[in-house]
Amino acid sequence: MSYIKLDKNKCKSCYLCMDVCPKKLLKKSNEIGKTGEYTVEFKDEQNLCLGCGQCAMVCPEIAITEVYKDE
Ligand code: SF4
Ligand code: SF4
Repeated sequence: MSYIKLDKNKCKSCYLCMDVCPKKLLKKSNEIGKTGEYTVEFKDEQNLCLGCGQCAMVCPEIAITEVYKDE
């Protein structure tokens, strides 16, 4: 099982992570962030995260900092 840590305080709502995730596990939250737009949250109820790190690599704000892999 893999998962990520996302700091909503750093998110600038560019939504690049939503586009890049192959499993579409990043979704708009209902919280307004620093740019006045909805921040993103990580939703992986079915443990689909691959731990590929693409979301962390694409984030310009380094809001997604860690990818845990628990094999
Ligand atoms: S690590 Fe990969 S699969 Fe997991 S949320 Fe990020 S982009 Fe999606
Ligand atoms: S890539 Fe980073 S800044 Fe952009 S929406 Fe995702 S978490 Fe927020």
